Amino acid sequence: MRFETLAIHAGAEADAETGAVAPPLHLSTTFKHGAAGERRAGYEYQRETNPTQDRLEICLTALEGGERALVYASGMAAMQGYLECLANGAHVLIPNDCYTGLRTLFNEFLPQRAITATALDMSDLSAVRAALRPETALIWAETPSNPLLAIADIAALAEIAHAHGARLVCDNTFATPALQQPLALGADAVMHSTTKYLGGHSDVMGGALVFAQADSVYEQAAHRRHITGNIASPFNSWLILRGARSLPARMAWHCSNARRVAEFLQAQPEVSAVHYPGLSSHRGHEVAAKQMRDFGGMLSVQFAGGRDAALRFASRVRIFTNATSLGGVESLIEHRASIEGPHPVSADNLIRMSVGLEHPDDLIDDLKQALL
Ligand SMILES: *Cc1c(COP(=O)(O)O)cnc(C)c1O
Repeated sequence: MRFETLAIHAGAEADAETGAVAPPLHLSTTFKHGAAGERRAGYEYQRETNPTQDRLEICLTALEGGERALVYASGMAAMQGYLECLANGAHVLIPNDCYTGLRTLFNEFLPQRAITATALDMSDLSAVRAALRPETALIWAETPSNPLLAIADIAALAEIAHAHGARLVCDNTFATPALQQPLALGADAVMHSTTKYLGGHSDVMGGALVFAQADSVYEQAAHRRHITGNIASPFNSWLILRGARSLPARMAWHCSNARRVAEFLQAQPEVSAVHYPGLSSHRGHEVAAKQMRDFGGMLSVQFAGGRDAALRFASRVRIFTNATSLGGVESLIEHRASIEGPHPVSADNLIRMSVGLEHPDDLIDDLKQALL
């Protein structure tokens, strides 16, 4: 089956008992078993597994082309769910412009277990090779990255990791499986914040790991999730499954709107740089064109007039909403440096945009009046 068809049908079989076409939402925390504890349909207690969360895992496994998936209460819970399976003392390579939460885990939490990270430019493969140490167990890639949309070559990173006996995990939140399938390129696992495009409506939080194989990391992560209770709730699983079914259609429109916005902004004298992997001027354009079906709905823009010009622009838009997060139907805009805490990494003239599903002419009109 092709991707668009899988998105509609994977995990969405009609309910065996009632024939309900829309997936049922099972809220029960406990499941009736036999006198000696025999399970009737494989379920016992919601924190371990439940039927609605199972449907979402079947769906995500199919969409990413993996063997198993685990869904979590948030993207950060999924990230932590993978990282807590590392041995004490492990070393990890992470992107220098990684998601802020990943950086915080490595600054504040993982050192307690002597786990260290080297942050580097993941598009520079010789820098990646040079940073490997005997104890390097994992390369963590995020492509396109946040907020500069830097592109890492997934197939090349998988080769480097595997030649070293390490694993490759790819945060696929920005691209989604509709545009990029890291497991087919050699990654061992994919991580998602399903809060973003998979949910797609800015009304549900969730995360996921999808594994190429039901390997020992999968087994360990599943056990840890059961014991620590980071599982996605049935209701959140149900909403994300609902979102996944329209993902291919939404992504196509996100991509075409973002391209229009990127091309418009690139032509404005007030703008000093537009970061969008679909532009041939983008540093990662060639690799992106090789490993992605299309270039996504995220971009960032820098202003020649510095921080003041960026803030003025962000405060003048009317259709774009000034808010964090991304991947919903509505367009969002944000001054990254302002929300990155005490040590911002983004340039202070940079604005990140999540281009939504409004009519592109309305979006362009809004940007025009904000630039006046
Ligand atoms: C939002 C996000 C996360 C964290 O996910 P939450 O659902 O907010 O916990 C991780 N990685 C990327 C790229 C994100 O955009």
